[in-house]
Amino acid sequence: MSKQYLMPVKDWGKVRYFSKQEIACKCGCQAADIDARVMYVADIVRAYTRLPMVITSGVRCAAHNKAVGGAKDSAHVQGFALDIQVNDAVHRRLIRHALSLFGDVIGIGQGENFIHFDIDTKKPKREWLYK
Ligand SMILES: [Zn+2]
Repeated sequence: MSKQYLMPVKDWGKVRYFSKQEIACKCGCQAADIDARVMYVADIVRAYTRLPMVITSGVRCAAHNKAVGGAKDSAHVQGFALDIQVNDAVHRRLIRHALSLFGDVIGIGQGENFIHFDIDTKKPKREWLYK
């Protein structure tokens, strides 16, 4: 557990499966500084599993994070997290497993139809289910 610094994606041309638009804050503020390691992991998981991965939440500005009931210290605000919609239970399992293989991935949370993952090293390595 230690503080880490954002290494933002500089060249979206190197991200194969996702766009800056998809990860930008949903409030319209255009905040879109996401860590390159997050997109690297997402890209590789998408490439290997070949499963559809729809990003429902990437970067959140502080105001939007509050509006959607995000945790105060949410990794989304720092550009260290993605939420991915995955409707199929078997697909969720495969994607969770693939994510767990990356040393950079710290948190993996599973909801009813989505998976959250983050690289937030201020938190302990962990997996959880959203109730
Ligand atoms: Zn915003």
